[in-house]
Amino acid sequence: AKKQGGNQAIVYDEEINKEKNKKLRMEARLRKAIKNQEIEVFYQPKIDARADVITGVEALLRWTDEELGFVSPEVFVSVAEETGLIHPLWEIAMKKACTQVNKWNEQREEPLSLAVNFSAKQFHDPASLVKQVKEILAECQFAPNHFEVEITESTLLFNSEETIKALKDLREYGISISIDDFGTGYSSLSYLKTLPIDCLKIDKSFIQDIKENYCNSEIPSAIINLARSLRLEVIAEGVEEEYQKEFLLKNNCYHMQGYLFSRPVRGEELEDFLARMDA
Ligand code: C2E
Ligand code: CA
Ligand code: CA
Ligand code: CA
Repeated sequence: AKKQGGNQAIVYDEEINKEKNKKLRMEARLRKAIKNQEIEVFYQPKIDARADVITGVEALLRWTDEELGFVSPEVFVSVAEETGLIHPLWEIAMKKACTQVNKWNEQREEPLSLAVNFSAKQFHDPASLVKQVKEILAECQFAPNHFEVEITESTLLFNSEETIKALKDLREYGISISIDDFGTGYSSLSYLKTLPIDCLKIDKSFIQDIKENYCNSEIPSAIINLARSLRLEVIAEGVEEEYQKEFLLKNNCYHMQGYLFSRPVRGEELEDFLARMDA
């Protein structure tokens, strides 16, 4: 038995090594992709489902590597967070998306809002992050009051007074703050009363739990009510089914995002979507 245990340890070591090598390889490929500008930004519409109008878009990174193929953002964002590449990725998302959405807004009566995801890791130096946000918005001439920052509860959980100050700064500048994946973070709810935030984004897992006859809808209901009593906005992500939309509308949650309306798409494809919506 002892011998077998030893072998298991070796197998285990090999597994860990394989995992490490995979990550190292991915890091190298990602570095190259950033340098060669192979990272794309896709856009997913945010809808006001009362009138079926698009109110804004969320920027989502996409990467297809020659060797690795399509890599899910969940995977490469986490590698980027561990290796310091999250900041250059964020800069790509910011600059591409601000420039793109600005172009669309030049031709629109109602400007689209733009939401960008911010990793908790980026708040290790909150003051300089705020400075860079302001610089990029100014450089792209993007109106701060149409800009939204999406953070997760972990940003609030593991960070300091400085983070809170940074969020306040951003808000004073006109930017809105949304809590992404809301309800999955195990954090205390008390922060909602004191922290500078504007919107709760109900995690898609809760929306997907809502079935045909509205069973399993207790958590979305509770979050919608919570948002209302705290005078926060609320948006549902991951809306795939008509009955999920109906449930949300009945419960006064009008802002939605999900495959029912559109998947995240390239800029050109979003233009077709805009044309169809405005027609
Ligand atoms: P997220 O910010 O929660 O983004 C929502 C994810 O749900 C996106 O996955 C989107 O494609 C997907 N989604 C939207 N509607 C539906 C739906 O109706 N059904 C289902 N099943 N899924 C839907 P994606 O694009 O693969 O991104 C995954 C995660 O990667 C994001 O989750 C975010 O955490 C991270 N990510 C993507 N881009 C960035 C970025 O620029 N910066 C950072 N820090 N993270 C990013
Ligand atoms: Ca998000
Ligand atoms: Ca989310
Ligand atoms: Ca997420």
